[in-house]
Amino acid sequence: MKIAILSRNKKLYSTRRLIEACEQRGHEPIVLDVLRSYMEVVQSKPEVHLKGQTLEPVDAVIPRIGASITFYGTAVLRQFEMMGSFPLNESVAISRSRDKLRSLQLLSRKGVGLPSTGFAHHPDDIQDLIKMVGGAPLVIKLLEGTQGIGVVLAETRKAAESVIEAFMGLKANIMVQEYIKEAGGADIRCLVIGDKVVATMKRQALPGEFRSNLHRGGSATLIKITPTERATAVKAAKIMGLNVAGVDLLRSERGPLVMEVNSSPGLEGIEVATGKDIAGMIIDFIEKNAKPNSTRTKGKG
Ligand code: ADP
Ligand code: MG
Repeated sequence: MKIAILSRNKKLYSTRRLIEACEQRGHEPIVLDVLRSYMEVVQSKPEVHLKGQTLEPVDAVIPRIGASITFYGTAVLRQFEMMGSFPLNESVAISRSRDKLRSLQLLSRKGVGLPSTGFAHHPDDIQDLIKMVGGAPLVIKLLEGTQGIGVVLAETRKAAESVIEAFMGLKANIMVQEYIKEAGGADIRCLVIGDKVVATMKRQALPGEFRSNLHRGGSATLIKITPTERATAVKAAKIMGLNVAGVDLLRSERGPLVMEVNSSPGLEGIEVATGKDIAGMIIDFIEKNAKPNSTRTKGKG
């Protein structure tokens, strides 16, 4: 198969591993810098261009679209979907998952456990917003942050009020969330492929830090998850419409809570922590599932 990997850099760990896994299985990987791909949108003949050339059609596309280029990246992916290529994750599902609030709304509708979360526009509503999520300490998040940047722990009601007010003044989109203290600065990353959790790791924040992101110095170790946690992770990926997802859970007194669902989970942390060939499993999934013209959300919002 001809498999396009949408990535900005061939040397990134995840991209390198996906290239290797394609080659080991006799496929032809092509790495496309998504920001250098451009499109002509004309009646009935979608095409993608690169450096003056028209790309030959590909069988499958693996989107590795960074959060800062979601808009352009999903537009390129959509073009491939219109050309009939099989997307590992569909453009609509990626856009959905990039908005933390939209994701939680979709998950809540289907009864998935979540930290209690509030969203408001007007500064006059801050007091009630804080009360709604159970008061301080609470977590304030930028809707489109990643790697722990834009996630703040407000320890007191006063601190929460002033941080929320400051963000509102900057017109930043934020949500306010119940702080799950008993998680102890740890979360569980569940790597979902299709309808299975294929690997899990526990990420523990540095002492004095509550964000467990590896980019914030968190450390990864092996962990065994419960059947309920497993089912929750698979359900969350399914609701988001993602074939491959990194579902992050917090262990709370009332069971597993989904914190976020990642559409381009990094492979390095989880492969190193578990010793598993996740890249290989992704290509195996494509082999089993890639069919032309199979995008479910084609043309839909
Ligand atoms: P990002 O997209 O930037 O990774 P997250 O929502 O995943 O943002 O938050 C970053 C980290 O902060 C999480 O991995 C977790 O360790 C911690 N965290 C986030 N929300 C909560 C919460 N409600 N309660 C406790 N810890 C949280
Ligand atoms: Mg996260």
